[in-house]
Amino acid sequence: MLTFYPGPSKVYPEVKDYMAMAYDEGILSIPHRSDRFVQLSKNVVALLRKKLNIPQDYHIYFVSSATECWEIIAQSLTRHNSFHLYNGSFGEKWLQYVRKIKPQAKGFKFGVNEEIPVKDLEIEAEPELICITQNETSNGTQIKETTILNLFNRYRDALIAVDATSSMAGISLKYIKADVWYASVQKCFGLPAGLGIMVCSPRAVFRAKEINERGHYNSMVMLYEKMLNYQTTNTPNVLGIYLLQQVMEQRAPIKTIDHDIVKRSQDLYEFFDLFSSITPLVTNPEVRSNTVITIQGPEKLIDEMKRNALRNEIVLGNGYGPWAKNTFRIANFPAISDDEFKILKHFLLSNYE
Ligand SMILES: *Cc1c(COP(=O)(O)O)cnc(C)c1O
Repeated sequence: MLTFYPGPSKVYPEVKDYMAMAYDEGILSIPHRSDRFVQLSKNVVALLRKKLNIPQDYHIYFVSSATECWEIIAQSLTRHNSFHLYNGSFGEKWLQYVRKIKPQAKGFKFGVNEEIPVKDLEIEAEPELICITQNETSNGTQIKETTILNLFNRYRDALIAVDATSSMAGISLKYIKADVWYASVQKCFGLPAGLGIMVCSPRAVFRAKEINERGHYNSMVMLYEKMLNYQTTNTPNVLGIYLLQQVMEQRAPIKTIDHDIVKRSQDLYEFFDLFSSITPLVTNPEVRSNTVITIQGPEKLIDEMKRNALRNEIVLGNGYGPWAKNTFRIANFPAISDDEFKILKHFLLSNYE
Protein backbone atom coordinates (compact mmCIF):
# COMPACT_ATOMS: atom_id res chain seq x y z
CA MET A 1 0.00 0.00 0.00
CA LEU A 2 1.36 3.44 -0.96
CA THR A 3 0.18 6.37 1.09
CA PHE A 4 0.18 10.00 0.01
CA TYR A 5 -1.83 11.10 3.05
CA PRO A 6 -0.51 14.43 4.37
CA GLY A 7 -0.40 13.38 8.02
CA PRO A 8 -0.10 10.97 9.57
CA SER A 9 1.96 10.17 6.54
CA LYS A 10 4.38 7.59 5.25
CA VAL A 11 7.15 6.88 7.75
CA TYR A 12 10.68 6.12 6.57
CA PRO A 13 11.02 2.35 5.94
CA GLU A 14 14.05 2.36 8.27
CA VAL A 15 11.72 3.16 11.18
CA LYS A 16 10.97 -0.55 11.47
CA ASP A 17 14.61 -1.32 12.30
CA TYR A 18 15.02 1.78 14.46
CA MET A 19 12.12 0.60 16.61
CA ALA A 20 13.76 -2.78 17.15
CA MET A 21 17.05 -1.02 17.92
CA ALA A 22 15.35 1.17 20.53
CA TYR A 23 14.02 -1.96 22.20
CA ASP A 24 17.34 -3.79 22.05
CA GLU A 25 19.31 -0.83 23.37
CA GLY A 26 16.98 -0.65 26.38
CA ILE A 27 16.17 2.99 25.63
CA LEU A 28 12.44 2.44 26.13
CA SER A 29 12.77 2.05 29.89
CA ILE A 30 15.28 4.78 30.73
CA PRO A 31 14.25 7.37 33.34
CA HIS A 32 13.83 10.82 31.86
CA ARG A 33 16.10 12.30 34.52
CA SER A 34 18.97 9.92 33.68
CA ASP A 35 22.25 10.76 31.97
CA ARG A 36 21.28 8.54 29.07
CA PHE A 37 18.19 10.58 28.42
CA VAL A 38 20.12 13.83 28.73
CA GLN A 39 22.69 12.55 26.21
CA LEU A 40 19.96 11.50 23.78
CA SER A 41 18.13 14.80 24.13
CA LYS A 42 21.32 16.84 23.74
CA ASN A 43 22.27 14.88 20.64
CA VAL A 44 18.85 15.35 19.04
CA VAL A 45 18.87 19.09 19.72
CA ALA A 46 22.32 19.35 18.09
CA LEU A 47 21.17 17.27 15.11
CA LEU A 48 18.07 19.41 14.61
CA ARG A 49 20.19 22.56 14.63
CA LYS A 50 22.65 21.09 12.18
CA LYS A 51 20.29 19.41 9.75
CA LEU A 52 17.54 22.06 9.77
CA ASN A 53 19.73 25.17 10.09
CA ILE A 54 18.19 26.31 13.36
CA PRO A 55 20.19 29.24 14.78
CA GLN A 56 22.47 28.49 17.73
CA ASP A 57 20.71 30.94 20.04
CA TYR A 58 17.23 29.54 19.39
CA HIS A 59 15.76 27.19 22.00
CA ILE A 60 14.33 23.81 21.05
CA TYR A 61 11.67 22.06 23.14
CA PHE A 62 10.11 18.61 22.91
CA VAL A 63 6.33 18.69 23.22
CA SER A 64 3.65 16.24 22.19
CA SER A 65 1.92 17.90 19.24
CA ALA A 66 1.27 21.05 17.25
CA THR A 67 -2.07 21.37 19.01
CA GLU A 68 -0.23 21.54 22.32
CA CYS A 69 1.86 24.39 20.89
CA TRP A 70 -1.33 26.37 20.19
CA GLU A 71 -2.05 26.28 23.92
CA ILE A 72 1.51 26.84 25.13
CA ILE A 73 1.85 29.93 22.96
CA ALA A 74 -1.46 31.43 24.13
CA GLN A 75 -0.77 30.68 27.80
CA SER A 76 2.83 31.77 27.96
CA LEU A 77 3.51 34.43 25.34
CA THR A 78 0.47 36.69 25.50
CA ARG A 79 -1.14 38.66 28.30
CA HIS A 80 -4.38 39.47 26.46
CA ASN A 81 -4.38 38.98 22.75
CA SER A 82 -2.89 37.65 19.59
CA PHE A 83 -3.66 38.35 15.97
CA HIS A 84 -4.21 35.44 13.60
CA LEU A 85 -3.86 35.56 9.84
CA TYR A 86 -5.34 32.47 8.21
CA ASN A 87 -6.92 31.11 5.05
CA GLY A 88 -7.78 27.53 6.03
CA SER A 89 -8.87 25.08 8.69
CA PHE A 90 -5.66 24.74 10.72
CA GLY A 91 -5.09 28.48 11.04
CA GLU A 92 -8.72 28.90 12.01
CA LYS A 93 -8.60 26.08 14.57
CA TRP A 94 -5.56 27.70 16.14
CA LEU A 95 -7.57 30.92 16.63
CA GLN A 96 -10.50 28.95 18.08
CA TYR A 97 -8.25 27.17 20.60
CA VAL A 98 -6.60 30.43 21.60
CA ARG A 99 -9.95 32.19 22.14
CA LYS A 100 -10.79 29.67 24.87
CA ILE A 101 -7.67 30.86 26.71
CA LYS A 102 -7.43 34.48 25.59
CA PRO A 103 -10.93 35.56 24.46
CA GLN A 104 -9.67 38.83 22.97
CA ALA A 105 -7.66 37.09 20.26
CA LYS A 106 -8.55 38.37 16.80
CA GLY A 107 -8.31 37.01 13.31
CA PHE A 108 -8.13 38.06 9.70
CA LYS A 109 -9.08 35.67 6.94
CA PHE A 110 -7.54 35.96 3.49
CA GLY A 111 -8.33 34.12 0.28
CA VAL A 112 -6.78 30.86 -0.85
CA ASN A 113 -5.15 32.52 -3.85
CA GLU A 114 -4.13 35.70 -2.01
CA GLU A 115 -0.91 36.68 -0.37
CA ILE A 116 -1.25 38.29 3.06
CA PRO A 117 -1.72 42.01 2.33
CA VAL A 118 0.88 43.07 4.89
CA LYS A 119 0.96 46.77 3.91
CA ASP A 120 -2.82 47.14 4.03
CA LEU A 121 -3.44 45.25 7.25
CA GLU A 122 -5.34 47.22 9.82
CA ILE A 123 -4.68 45.86 13.25
CA GLU A 124 -6.15 48.22 15.88
CA ALA A 125 -3.52 48.13 18.57
CA GLU A 126 -0.02 46.75 18.14
CA PRO A 127 -0.60 43.03 18.71
CA GLU A 128 1.44 41.13 21.30
CA LEU A 129 1.76 38.20 18.96
CA ILE A 130 1.04 37.54 15.28
CA CYS A 131 0.15 33.97 14.31
CA ILE A 132 0.50 32.51 10.85
CA THR A 133 0.34 29.04 9.34
CA GLN A 134 3.33 28.76 7.02
CA ASN A 135 1.91 25.73 5.28
CA GLU A 136 -1.87 25.37 5.45
CA THR A 137 -2.33 21.61 5.20
CA SER A 138 -6.10 21.85 4.65
CA ASN A 139 -5.87 23.58 1.27
CA GLY A 140 -2.24 23.32 0.14
CA THR A 141 -1.19 26.95 0.38
CA GLN A 142 1.98 28.37 1.85
CA ILE A 143 3.24 31.72 3.04
CA LYS A 144 6.34 32.99 1.27
CA GLU A 145 9.53 33.90 3.08
CA THR A 146 9.24 37.53 1.93
CA THR A 147 5.74 37.82 3.43
CA ILE A 148 7.05 36.68 6.81
CA LEU A 149 9.90 39.17 6.44
CA ASN A 150 7.41 41.97 5.67
CA LEU A 151 5.37 41.10 8.77
CA PHE A 152 8.55 41.06 10.83
CA ASN A 153 9.53 44.50 9.50
CA ARG A 154 6.11 46.07 9.94
CA TYR A 155 5.34 44.78 13.44
CA ARG A 156 8.67 45.13 15.19
CA ASP A 157 7.35 44.82 18.74
CA ALA A 158 5.13 41.82 18.15
CA LEU A 159 6.36 38.28 18.36
CA ILE A 160 5.64 36.13 15.33
CA ALA A 161 4.56 32.51 15.80
CA VAL A 162 4.53 30.16 12.85
CA ASP A 163 2.72 26.85 12.49
CA ALA A 164 5.13 24.91 10.27
CA THR A 165 3.65 21.50 11.02
CA SER A 166 3.56 20.32 7.43
CA SER A 167 6.68 22.11 6.18
CA MET A 168 9.38 21.93 8.86
CA ALA A 169 11.99 19.37 7.76
CA GLY A 170 10.51 19.46 4.25
CA ILE A 171 11.54 22.91 3.09
CA SER A 172 14.15 25.35 4.28
CA LEU A 173 12.74 27.87 6.76
CA LYS A 174 14.34 31.18 7.80
CA TYR A 175 14.06 30.74 11.54
CA ILE A 176 15.61 34.12 12.40
CA LYS A 177 12.65 35.94 10.84
CA ALA A 178 10.14 34.73 13.40
CA ASP A 179 10.03 33.87 17.10
CA VAL A 180 8.23 30.57 17.46
CA TRP A 181 8.16 27.74 14.93
CA TYR A 182 6.59 24.39 15.63
CA ALA A 183 5.74 21.09 13.99
CA SER A 184 4.66 17.54 14.75
CA VAL A 185 6.83 14.71 13.47
CA GLN A 186 4.12 12.77 11.59
CA LYS A 187 4.39 15.07 8.58
CA CYS A 188 7.70 16.02 6.90
CA PHE A 189 9.88 14.21 9.45
CA GLY A 190 8.51 10.87 8.27
CA LEU A 191 7.94 9.54 11.79
CA PRO A 192 5.01 8.16 13.78
CA ALA A 193 2.80 10.71 15.59
CA GLY A 194 3.18 11.66 19.24
CA LEU A 195 6.02 14.17 19.29
CA GLY A 196 6.12 17.89 18.59
CA ILE A 197 9.10 20.21 18.18
CA MET A 198 8.93 23.84 19.26
CA VAL A 199 11.68 26.26 18.24
CA CYS A 200 11.84 29.60 20.07
CA SER A 201 13.86 32.78 19.59
CA PRO A 202 15.66 34.48 22.48
CA ARG A 203 12.99 37.20 22.22
CA ALA A 204 10.23 34.64 22.75
CA VAL A 205 11.97 33.20 25.80
CA PHE A 206 12.49 36.72 27.14
CA ARG A 207 8.76 37.38 26.78
CA ALA A 208 7.90 34.09 28.49
CA LYS A 209 10.13 35.01 31.43
CA GLU A 210 8.63 38.49 31.60
CA ILE A 211 5.07 37.17 31.77
CA ASN A 212 6.28 34.30 33.96
CA GLU A 213 3.15 32.23 33.54
CA ARG A 214 3.55 29.01 35.56
CA GLY A 215 0.01 27.72 35.73
CA HIS A 216 0.51 24.68 33.51
CA TYR A 217 2.82 21.71 33.29
CA ASN A 218 3.80 22.93 29.86
CA SER A 219 4.21 26.64 30.66
CA MET A 220 7.03 27.91 28.49
CA VAL A 221 9.21 29.11 31.38
CA MET A 222 9.09 25.59 32.77
CA LEU A 223 9.99 24.05 29.41
CA TYR A 224 12.85 26.54 29.32
CA GLU A 225 14.09 25.75 32.83
CA LYS A 226 14.03 22.00 32.30
CA MET A 227 15.68 22.25 28.89
CA LEU A 228 18.66 24.11 30.40
CA ASN A 229 19.62 20.57 31.39
CA TYR A 230 18.16 18.92 28.26
CA GLN A 231 15.17 17.61 30.18
CA THR A 232 11.40 17.84 29.83
CA THR A 233 8.70 18.75 32.35
CA ASN A 234 6.85 15.45 31.99
CA THR A 235 7.93 11.95 30.94
CA PRO A 236 8.38 12.51 27.22
CA ASN A 237 7.94 10.28 24.20
CA VAL A 238 11.40 8.73 24.48
CA LEU A 239 10.79 6.34 21.59
CA GLY A 240 9.76 9.27 19.40
CA ILE A 241 12.86 11.23 20.40
CA TYR A 242 15.05 8.20 19.70
CA LEU A 243 13.48 7.67 16.27
CA LEU A 244 13.97 11.35 15.54
CA GLN A 245 17.66 10.96 16.38
CA GLN A 246 18.07 8.00 14.01
CA VAL A 247 16.21 9.70 11.16
CA MET A 248 18.02 13.03 11.53
CA GLU A 249 21.39 11.28 11.54
CA GLN A 250 20.65 9.70 8.16
CA ARG A 251 19.10 12.72 6.58
CA ALA A 252 20.66 15.14 4.12
CA PRO A 253 20.91 18.80 5.17
CA ILE A 254 17.67 20.75 4.68
CA LYS A 255 19.10 22.72 1.73
CA THR A 256 19.38 19.49 -0.25
CA ILE A 257 15.97 18.22 0.82
CA ASP A 258 14.39 21.61 0.06
CA HIS A 259 15.86 21.54 -3.43
CA ASP A 260 14.40 18.09 -4.14
CA ILE A 261 10.99 18.84 -2.63
CA VAL A 262 10.58 22.15 -4.45
CA LYS A 263 11.60 20.56 -7.74
CA ARG A 264 9.26 17.62 -7.24
CA SER A 265 6.37 19.94 -6.38
CA GLN A 266 6.91 21.99 -9.55
CA ASP A 267 6.96 18.79 -11.49
CA LEU A 268 3.68 17.68 -9.85
CA TYR A 269 1.90 20.97 -10.56
CA GLU A 270 2.99 20.69 -14.19
CA PHE A 271 1.82 17.10 -14.26
CA PHE A 272 -1.66 18.05 -13.06
CA ASP A 273 -1.94 20.62 -15.85
CA LEU A 274 -2.25 17.65 -18.22
CA PHE A 275 -5.72 16.88 -16.89
CA SER A 276 -8.88 18.67 -17.88
CA SER A 277 -11.37 17.45 -15.26
CA ILE A 278 -9.12 17.96 -12.23
CA THR A 279 -6.91 20.97 -11.46
CA PRO A 280 -4.82 22.25 -8.56
CA LEU A 281 -7.11 24.04 -6.06
CA VAL A 282 -4.57 26.84 -5.73
CA THR A 283 -4.17 28.70 -9.02
CA ASN A 284 -1.74 31.39 -7.86
CA PRO A 285 1.75 29.85 -8.13
CA GLU A 286 3.06 32.35 -5.56
CA VAL A 287 1.12 30.74 -2.73
CA ARG A 288 1.15 27.10 -3.77
CA SER A 289 2.51 24.72 -1.17
CA ASN A 290 5.56 22.64 -1.98
CA THR A 291 4.70 19.93 0.51
CA VAL A 292 0.93 19.48 0.21
CA ILE A 293 -0.66 19.45 -3.24
CA THR A 294 -4.43 19.86 -3.31
CA ILE A 295 -6.32 18.79 -6.40
CA GLN A 296 -9.92 19.77 -7.03
CA GLY A 297 -12.60 18.38 -9.28
CA PRO A 298 -16.29 17.43 -9.38
CA GLU A 299 -17.28 15.70 -6.11
CA LYS A 300 -18.34 12.51 -7.85
CA LEU A 301 -15.09 12.19 -9.75
CA ILE A 302 -12.96 12.95 -6.68
CA ASP A 303 -14.81 10.28 -4.74
CA GLU A 304 -14.40 7.75 -7.55
CA MET A 305 -10.70 8.53 -7.92
CA LYS A 306 -10.02 7.94 -4.23
CA ARG A 307 -11.87 4.62 -4.32
CA ASN A 308 -10.20 3.51 -7.52
CA ALA A 309 -6.80 4.49 -6.14
CA LEU A 310 -7.47 2.38 -3.04
CA ARG A 311 -8.27 -0.64 -5.19
CA ASN A 312 -4.85 -0.07 -6.73
CA GLU A 313 -3.25 0.12 -3.27
CA ILE A 314 -2.76 3.87 -3.41
CA VAL A 315 -4.07 6.11 -0.62
CA LEU A 316 -4.87 9.67 -1.70
CA GLY A 317 -5.37 12.16 1.14
CA ASN A 318 -8.99 13.17 1.72
CA GLY A 319 -9.92 16.80 1.30
CA TYR A 320 -10.22 18.77 4.52
CA GLY A 321 -12.77 21.18 6.03
CA PRO A 322 -14.63 23.16 3.37
CA TRP A 323 -12.67 21.27 0.69
CA ALA A 324 -13.49 17.81 2.11
CA LYS A 325 -15.55 16.60 -0.85
CA ASN A 326 -14.23 18.40 -3.91
CA THR A 327 -10.51 17.86 -3.40
CA PHE A 328 -7.93 15.22 -2.59
CA ARG A 329 -4.50 15.99 -1.18
CA ILE A 330 -1.09 14.57 -1.96
CA ALA A 331 1.77 14.80 0.50
CA ASN A 332 5.05 15.72 -1.16
CA PHE A 333 7.04 14.73 1.91
CA PRO A 334 10.69 13.63 1.93
CA ALA A 335 9.96 10.06 3.10
CA ILE A 336 7.99 9.36 -0.09
CA SER A 337 10.29 8.19 -2.88
CA ASP A 338 10.39 9.35 -6.50
CA ASP A 339 9.50 5.80 -7.53
CA GLU A 340 6.30 6.00 -5.52
CA PHE A 341 5.38 9.20 -7.34
CA LYS A 342 6.03 7.40 -10.64
CA ILE A 343 3.46 4.77 -9.66
CA LEU A 344 0.96 7.47 -8.68
CA LYS A 345 1.44 9.31 -11.96
CA HIS A 346 1.11 6.13 -13.97
CA PHE A 347 -2.15 5.32 -12.19
CA LEU A 348 -3.57 8.80 -12.83
CA LEU A 349 -2.44 8.97 -16.47
CA SER A 350 -3.74 5.58 -17.41
CA ASN A 351 -7.15 6.15 -15.79
CA TYR A 352 -7.95 9.85 -16.01
CA GLU A 353 -6.04 11.75 -18.64
C1 LIG B 1 -1.34 18.33 11.32
C2 LIG B 1 -1.40 19.77 11.64
C3 LIG B 1 -1.69 20.25 12.93
C4 LIG B 1 -2.05 19.33 14.07
O1 LIG B 1 -1.01 18.51 14.44
P1 LIG B 1 -1.17 17.58 15.74
O2 LIG B 1 0.08 16.83 15.81
O3 LIG B 1 -2.38 16.72 15.48
O4 LIG B 1 -1.41 18.47 16.89
C5 LIG B 1 -1.65 21.61 13.15
N1 LIG B 1 -1.34 22.47 12.16
C6 LIG B 1 -1.08 22.06 10.91
C7 LIG B 1 -0.75 23.07 9.86
C8 LIG B 1 -1.09 20.69 10.61
O5 LIG B 1 -0.81 20.29 9.36
